[in-house]
Amino acid sequence: KIEVEKLNKSFGQLHVLKDINLTVRESEVVCLIGASGSGKSTLLRCLNFLEIKDSGRIIIEGEQIEETTHDLNQVRARVGMVFQHFHLFPHKTVLENVMEAPLFVKKMPKEEVRVEAMRLLEKVGLSEKANVFPSKLSGGQKQRVAIARALAMKPDIMLFDEPTSALDPELVGEVLATMKELALEGMTMIVVTHEMGFAREVADWVIYMHDGKIVEVGHPKELFQHPQEQRTKDFLDSVL
Ligand code: ATP
Ligand code: MG
Repeated sequence: KIEVEKLNKSFGQLHVLKDINLTVRESEVVCLIGASGSGKSTLLRCLNFLEIKDSGRIIIEGEQIEETTHDLNQVRARVGMVFQHFHLFPHKTVLENVMEAPLFVKKMPKEEVRVEAMRLLEKVGLSEKANVFPSKLSGGQKQRVAIARALAMKPDIMLFDEPTSALDPELVGEVLATMKELALEGMTMIVVTHEMGFAREVADWVIYMHDGKIVEVGHPKELFQHPQEQRTKDFLDSVL
C-alpha cells in the first residue's frame, strides 16, 4: 500500500505537482493517464525518490518515508520502477542484469540470487536468454528483462512509466501480458500508459492528471464511458 498526501514538486518556477493525494491499496492496479507535461513521470519519480518532493507525505506500507531519515537505496528496493527506455546494463548478461541489485544493494548470497533470477527470467519467458547480452534482444524482451530485474528486489509496489511506448507495435502485447500476469498475482502497481485497452482490462482505478493535479479518478469503465470532467472528456477524445 502506498499513500500520498498533499505532494508538491516544483522545478524552479515551474510548479509540476500540485497537492497530489493518492492511495493505492494492496494488490490494486492504478493507471495514470494525462497529456504530455501533466506531471505523470514526475509523480512516479517522486514515489521512487528519484526526485525529492518539496512538501507532502509519502507513506509506504504504513511507514512515512523521508529522504532525511531513510536510506533511499533501501526505499528504492521496495518500490520497483520500469522505464520507457529499459536502462539495462549493456556490458552485463541478462542474468547478471537481474542479479545485480540483490547482490550489490541487498548483498544477498550469490547462489540464492542466481536461483531467484532464473525463476524470474522463466516467469517473463526469457530463461533461454539468460546468458546473452541485452544488445541481442528485441525491445519487448529487453523490457521483460527490466521487469524481472525490478522484481528481483521483491518490491512492495511496482511503478511503470510508459513501459511500451518505445516498442514496435508488434512487441507491445508481450510486455502488457507480462504486466497483466503480475497484476493477477496481486502486485500493487501504478502504470503510466497510453494503452487504454490495458487500462480498461487490468486497472482497478484510472486517474486522469492535468497540469499537475489529479482531475478525475474512476473505475475504468465509468471514467472512459462517462467522464465527469470536461478536461477528461477532451483528453479521451484526443486519444481514443
Ligand atoms: P510525458 O507524457 O511527455 O511523459 P509527463 O506527464 O510525464 O509527460 P513530466 O515528465 O512529469 O510530464 O513533466 C512535467 C513538467 O515538468 C514538464 O513541464 C517538464 O518539462 C517538467 N520537468 C520534468 N522534469 C524536469 C526537470 N528535471 N527539470 C526541469 N523541469 C522538468
Ligand atoms: Mg512522462
